[in-house]
Amino acid sequence: LLAIDGLTKRFGEVDVLREVTLDIREGEFLVLVGPSGCGKSTLLRIVAGLEQPTAGRMLFNGGDIVNQTPRERNFSLIFQNYALFPHMTVRNNILFGMKIRGEPASGFPQRLAKVADLLQLQPLLDRKPSQLSGGQRQRVAMARAIIREPALFLMDEPLSNLDARLRGEVRDGIMALHEKLKISTVYVTHDQIEAMTMADRIAVLHQGRLQQIGTPESLYRRPANLFVAGFIGTPA
Ligand code: ATP
Ligand code: MG
Repeated sequence: LLAIDGLTKRFGEVDVLREVTLDIREGEFLVLVGPSGCGKSTLLRIVAGLEQPTAGRMLFNGGDIVNQTPRERNFSLIFQNYALFPHMTVRNNILFGMKIRGEPASGFPQRLAKVADLLQLQPLLDRKPSQLSGGQRQRVAMARAIIREPALFLMDEPLSNLDARLRGEVRDGIMALHEKLKISTVYVTHDQIEAMTMADRIAVLHQGRLQQIGTPESLYRRPANLFVAGFIGTPA
């Protein structure tokens, strides 16, 4: 679906990403892991089009997207500090992105009903964000991200601001959504347990370099190097 080839990003003197090459497959849930500062968010922001790479190519279904605007790419990005508009209802928060894109309003009720149903937001549509729990707010952010049927769903540590109980609830919600819609997803975390339990495949990043990519089982059984072994927790 998306082929990332030789992607390098330099900030000043520092190479934050070094010749990262990986592919994202149709319908898969790819988890990108690595320690703080290894370049995960930078990679996601480049894929989303919010940042330009210093070098490298990105092909989406064979077409080069490096020069496309974020809007042309039609990917959805969810950050750790997802922002809902406090003065708008849940309904209008979810519809906001489609409204500014100028999509025909005739399709809104049906699409809203579908995502509200998927994310169990029906009873909450007329509330304001301040009247929601953290987990409910995160579900609204997800609804807003998927209602326009993105070609790729990018999530940057979406659980990191939630307490332990909510984290489980939202994680289950994310997985249930993925099972139903099979939107190709890149999910960033520095939590190896999340990676092992959620991923179809895991990509391990360290100091801007891709160390290994494969199924959780293959990384656990056959880590490519000591860093992967230590990070994934393969017993010595
Ligand atoms: P975390 O797990 O803490 O979120 P990360 O893997 O997402 O970390 P990035 O945010 O991608 O890491 O940052 C990678 C490196 O690039 C860091 O050393 C960071 O300081 C640096 N960096 C990120 N953005 C910029 C920028 N706009 N200008 C300069 N350096 C930057
Ligand atoms: Mg980050």
